[in-house]
Amino acid sequence: MLLRHTTKEIIPRKALTINPAKTCQPIGAMYASLGINSCLPHSHGSQGCCAYHRSTLTRHYREPVMAATSSFTEGSSVFGGQANLIQAINTIFTTYDPDIIAVHTTCLSETIGDDVNQIAAKAVAEGKVPKGKHVIHASTPSYVGSHVTGFANMTKAMAMYFAKATGKHNGKFNIIPGFVEPSDMTEIRRVAVAMGIKPIIFPDTSGVLNGPQTGKYKMFPKGGVTAAELTSCADSIGTIALGPLASADAARALDAKWKVPCQVQDIPIGLAATDRFINALRIAAGVSVPDIITQERGQLLDIITDMHQYFYHKKVALAGDPDHLIPLVEFLVNIDMLPVHIVTGTPGKAFESRIRELTSHLPCTVNVKAAGDMFQLHQWIKNEPVDLLIANSYGKYMAKDDDIPYVRYGFPITDRVGHSYFPTTCYKGGMRLLEKILDVLLDRMDRDAPEEKFELVM
Ligand code: SF4
Repeated sequence: MLLRHTTKEIIPRKALTINPAKTCQPIGAMYASLGINSCLPHSHGSQGCCAYHRSTLTRHYREPVMAATSSFTEGSSVFGGQANLIQAINTIFTTYDPDIIAVHTTCLSETIGDDVNQIAAKAVAEGKVPKGKHVIHASTPSYVGSHVTGFANMTKAMAMYFAKATGKHNGKFNIIPGFVEPSDMTEIRRVAVAMGIKPIIFPDTSGVLNGPQTGKYKMFPKGGVTAAELTSCADSIGTIALGPLASADAARALDAKWKVPCQVQDIPIGLAATDRFINALRIAAGVSVPDIITQERGQLLDIITDMHQYFYHKKVALAGDPDHLIPLVEFLVNIDMLPVHIVTGTPGKAFESRIRELTSHLPCTVNVKAAGDMFQLHQWIKNEPVDLLIANSYGKYMAKDDDIPYVRYGFPITDRVGHSYFPTTCYKGGMRLLEKILDVLLDRMDRDAPEEKFELVM
């Protein structure tokens, strides 16, 4: 019993988090920065923060994650990190030669109050930023929000720094995919192109964090949105922001500054959310839905109908990010499962009200909490056991202790592979999700079945 101290009795807590269901803001900012072509993320703070952010991303993606740090010492912690950052900008451009440095702050530099805007301007004035190169930055204090907030802040920063309208439409459509896997970014692009859209997807980590093994190391892989594309996104016909928390800020900022009309949607996880995404693309492109997409939708429906008896009224506990959990809960409800315990570490009351709306008609009590933690989820499970747990790799302790069928989903996943190569978004991704859920549910049935009920055909 690894979590033997989790009690069934729930005592109200306000000032204590036990096993958080989130990671820190700069991790999301670093992930977003890696979705820009030829960009080196830079962590303005201590070496320890940067090492933690890099190792979390490396463990999840199983790729080397490069990032620089201002390497604060006792002196910079007291007097500010301006000298460190200017020195770092100079060293990075002269040694590693990226096109862009994306600076995010940390708890320490935010507490000191370093003005990175002013420091970057000083670096430009002192000739430390070569012509045609860029330093962008986002403020990411980790004592508020989560990795999702950090992703949103850096995504907004890249749009605001580069976007510049020429007054002529470029015939393209901006898609901000949210904090999803590189595989999902590829899938969202494939579907958008199939719908007749010319997309500018930002950030785009496909080809960066799921690249092939070639035997040769490349510090800046081919993937990622380019600076030219980011500049051009001010001339796009419109923007679809997928995931209100991770993507809406960038889309709304583009709308406010450059009059690029935006709509905010859920990430297309599951049937209904993908239907809404496809409908938005259909209207944007002014086309009918092509046969290939209709066929994929039909295949997803086919799995749902063929295997419905195994989903029906199975109780599910979930931990993850709000932008994932909202469409995922909707999907589970649509296939007649019962999401009964839902927790995210990311704060925000809108999450709880969306989940309540989606689950209000269910014949069971639903526990939902934003800014919650894994300990609370485990306590709920002890009081009301479930048939399935969906969570990141930290869920494995609960799954082991309480012997729960378990699907790894979200960030980080540090003990399995596949997530960066196989999408869970759009109709094809929905099929994969159902496959993963069915695998663990049916494995459990096989394992527990008495010999006379052990079936070859299920
Ligand atoms: S100090 Fe703040 S920024 Fe650094 S790792 Fe901890 S939470 Fe993240």
